[in-house]
Parts: sequence; C-alpha cells; structure tokens
Amino acid sequence: MRYLSNDGRIDCQGNFYALQRAFFTVSGQFSPPTFSPESLAAASRALEGAEPPEIIRWGVETFGDRLTMATAFGPEGCAIIHWLAQIAPKTFVFNLETGYQFPETLELRDRIARRYGIEVSLERPDTTVEEYEKLHGGPLHGRDPDRCCADRKIAVIRRVLSRFDAWMSGIRRDQSPDRAAAPIVGFDGKFGVVKISPLANWTKAKIWDLIVREDIPYNPLHDQGYVSIGCAPCTRPIQLGEDERAGRWSGSAKTECGLHSRSH
Ligand code: SF4
Repeated sequence: MRYLSNDGRIDCQGNFYALQRAFFTVSGQFSPPTFSPESLAAASRALEGAEPPEIIRWGVETFGDRLTMATAFGPEGCAIIHWLAQIAPKTFVFNLETGYQFPETLELRDRIARRYGIEVSLERPDTTVEEYEKLHGGPLHGRDPDRCCADRKIAVIRRVLSRFDAWMSGIRRDQSPDRAAAPIVGFDGKFGVVKISPLANWTKAKIWDLIVREDIPYNPLHDQGYVSIGCAPCTRPIQLGEDERAGRWSGSAKTECGLHSRSH
C-alpha cells in the first residue's frame, strides 16, 4: 500500500497511492496524476485491446522520463526496444547484469545499440562474481538460488526503480501460470512503482513473427534450443513439448527470479 509523499517520492503506507508528477490529461492540461487501484485497473481495462505500441505510447505520455524498462534481452524485450526506438528512444532501458549472463546475451546488447542507438544500461550488484563467491564460499546459484537472485537481481532492480515511477517489462500471460493474471497496467507493490506489460496479451508466435518480419536482433541461443534465457548456470535448452520456462532453474522448484512473482 503506497502513498506519494510531498517531495514526489513514493513511500509504503497503504493500498492507495498517487504519483505526483506532471501528467498530460485528456483535457490537454498538465496536472498531477492520482491513481487509485480502481483508476489503474480502469486504465488497464481500457488498454486491454490495444496493441503494444499504443500501450508503450500511453506509458511514455503518462510517465515521461519517470518511465523505465527492464530487459534480459529476450525476444519480448527486443521487440519492446524496437518500438521504443520509434516512440521514445531516450527512455532509460536497463539490464540486470548479474555477472552470470551468457556472452551471447551481452553481445546482443551491443548489436541492439548499433541497430537502434539505444545503449541498454548494464546494472550490476555491489560485488563482482569473484567477490560474491569468495564471500559465500563458492557460488550460491546451486545451493541457494533464491538468495543469489535476491542479491544479484532484486536488490539491483530495487535500486534502479527507486529513481522511477513506472517500469515496463516484456512478460506475457501465456508464459506461465504465475504470469497468467498480469494486468496491462498495475501497481507493483514489491517495488513501489506502476508496472506496464505491453505484451501481456501477445503470444510467442506473434513475437517471433514480428522479429522475423522486422529483422529485430535476437539472442542466437534461441536457435540452439534455449527458449527463456537468464543466467548461464540456471538456464538450459528445452526439449520438444516442455514448457517454455522449463529450462530455468531446471531440477528445482524455483520458477521465477522474483522480479515478476506476486507483484503483477
Ligand atoms: S538466475 Fe541463477 S545465477 Fe542468476 S542471479 Fe538467479 S540464482 Fe544467481
């Protein structure tokens, strides 16, 4: 539950919250937006039939430079960057660089920069992999992946999102049961910002159709059986018929790193 304090920062207080920043209303006037859960739900319903570029445009017009986007350079994120390059190329886009990502993923960051001029910021934890593993007597991803994700992803995204009012992600409802109820727009109580999911209604087939049609750069690991790609130690290719996220934390009960769970 959150309210906006007078200095424009959001703090945790309750179920209602407001965002105090310039907002361009339908009447053409700038005014501070006040979003109750109901008004956010209404915005989400209104955008339910909209195509992703319209939703992205709504986010940009509503939040301006207080909007950011997180990407792990999956096909969905690459598609959003493709649209952002046309709609608002100065939007701050970031990647959680845990130190465990595939080299192919980091190379994709450079290919995107060359294609779109969008330099995705690599946001790192306070410790290098070497420092972190020394601190814990070896890697934690096998022994305690929740702790590893909390330290190397959640703490970092929390730090980044504290500077923004809204973030966009590329999650789709058909990716997993945990994501099935994701609204187009909702309040992300975990991080205290509005969360926009322009692709919530899209399917994997539509994303890949767009990528092929527009020649959007994508991670070459997708051509080697990797479907959902995260950190290298926690990602494997999947077999025919497996769930598309079966290759993440395979062999453990963990299915999400915590960025998207319980906070749609
Ligand atoms: S995905 Fe694996 S390596 Fe990456 S932060 Fe989580 S547990 Fe650590």
